[in-house]
Amino acid sequence: MPSPQKHVVIIGGGFGGIAAARALKRAPVRLTIVDRRNHHLFQPLLYQVATAALNPSDIASPIRRIVRRQRNAYVILGEATSIDTRRKIVRLADNESEVAYDYLIVATGATHSYFGHDEWIEPAPGLKTLEDAVEIRRRVLVAYEAAEREVDASEVANWMTFVIIGAGPTGVEMAGALAEISRRVLERDFRKIDPGRARIILIEAGPRVLPAMSPESSASARRQLERLGVEVITNSPVTAIDDRGVTHGGA
Ligand SMILES: Cc1cc2nc3c(=O)[nH]c(=O)nc-3n(C[C@H](O)[C@H](O)[C@H](O)COP(=O)(O)OP(=O)(O)OC[C@H]3O[C@@H](n4cnc5c(N)ncnc54)[C@H](O)[C@@H]3O)c2cc1C
Repeated sequence: MPSPQKHVVIIGGGFGGIAAARALKRAPVRLTIVDRRNHHLFQPLLYQVATAALNPSDIASPIRRIVRRQRNAYVILGEATSIDTRRKIVRLADNESEVAYDYLIVATGATHSYFGHDEWIEPAPGLKTLEDAVEIRRRVLVAYEAAEREVDASEVANWMTFVIIGAGPTGVEMAGALAEISRRVLERDFRKIDPGRARIILIEAGPRVLPAMSPESSASARRQLERLGVEVITNSPVTAIDDRGVTHGGA
């Protein structure tokens, strides 16, 4: 009698989870992918959704479609809330259901850190999910609309000042994309304001942008950002944020 197939449960249908599922395509196992969202998200292009260059559906694909042809794979929409390694079960949030496993792969990704300042979440949302991207896009477009209706010149300038904190890849991409849409796309859409005059400020605590890359790449990225009109400030940790502005570098 053939032995029953082992059950592999993968929590997370991101790059890691999908790669694991594909690697097990021909393995003699049953696979269950559990994700709290029904889509796999191509996070590298989130900044393009946040700056209105792409639509959410351009960077999200249903997990079911990705594994449609993989006969040993089954998909459950649900949020894993706990793992009982003794009983070998994963508990899901919705109706307290449980998924039993023989082998478990946890590929739930990472989230950003506010370094002990969780009160910054509201004024300065991160960029990890489609919801984050759509919210940032909403705030950017609403700011331009508010500037167009404003009569006080200093308030117009305030509405058209965007601060990006952190010059890692996401911050650098966001700053560059925001400068590009302001100078090249939105410029033609407004009558009273000139989006091309928007201030886009990128603030980094460390000495250079893209600190994980070579000094040459950092210098090149900085030059390209400045050519797009981005104000790049380095060696200047942000110490406070509220809905009117940020305090940085002890200033
Ligand atoms: C804005 C941005 C830009 C990036 N740009 C690049 C780039 O240019 N190049 C590059 O190589 N990398 C880039 N990355 C990093 C890359 O996207 C990540 O390294 C990669 O997505 C990590 O894959 P993962 O499978 O570990 O996690 P994720 O892709 O985050 O997937 C985790 C999955 O787990 C699910 N999940 C989480 N918790 C639970 C739970 N409790 N229950 C059920 N499901 C759960 C989530 O819904 C998600 O689908 C970027 C990331 C971001 C945010």
